[in-house]
Amino acid sequence: MSARLNLVILGKQGAGKGTQCARLATIYSIPHVSTGDILRAAVKSDSPLGREVSSVMDAGALVSDDLVIKLVEARFLEPDAARGALLDGFPRTIAQAEALERLLGDDGVKLCVNLEVPIELVTQRLSTRRVCQECGSIYSETDISVISGTCEKCGGDVIQRADDKPEAIRKRLETYERDTAPLLEFYAARGLLVSVDGNQTPDEVTAAIKAVVHERGLA
Ligand code: AMP
Repeated sequence: MSARLNLVILGKQGAGKGTQCARLATIYSIPHVSTGDILRAAVKSDSPLGREVSSVMDAGALVSDDLVIKLVEARFLEPDAARGALLDGFPRTIAQAEALERLLGDDGVKLCVNLEVPIELVTQRLSTRRVCQECGSIYSETDISVISGTCEKCGGDVIQRADDKPEAIRKRLETYERDTAPLLEFYAARGLLVSVDGNQTPDEVTAAIKAVVHERGLA
């Protein structure tokens, strides 16, 4: 078994990366590192970083590679990442994937899971997705926390992300095809890519990912 379990979870926005990473983080006791969550926290706290990235994010575009790479470097220095991490929303470009290889060195990415979901389904999931502003929990339009507007886990406000509005969704999915989809080939060439059908229940998707991690002797 490897010392560090670094797993990259790829997939279009709305494929279920956040949901699966939260589950797998608990299962494997490694942190869920979401660059989107880190950036949203910066925006919420109105830090200089947050002010710099806020309009780019709202428009559904990518923030600069340099900036995101620095955030991830800093995150990997935190003690809880010593056993590895579940990377959600990073890397998103070939330049980021190359930076990750340099950062992690020999004990690098062990597996890249591509959550495959048809475009019509992710568009529908994103437009009905609501999130807790405090803890990031993800809900769907019909959930009780959405109807009440209050997160059942932490009591925070449940809102629609600005980038889950139709124009930003379109832009984000275009950005995914152009900048992020090439990563599938990048990881396939390294023998690290596995595709999982994301159009199943969350439990089924988790079970499929666990099976691959087990088959490869990673945990
Ligand atoms: P997400 O929650 O992963 O969909 O990310 C939300 C937004 O944060 C994205 O639409 C980008 O504007 C920004 N973002 C998150 N991760 C990255 C990344 N790795 N590279 C560039 N921008 C990112």
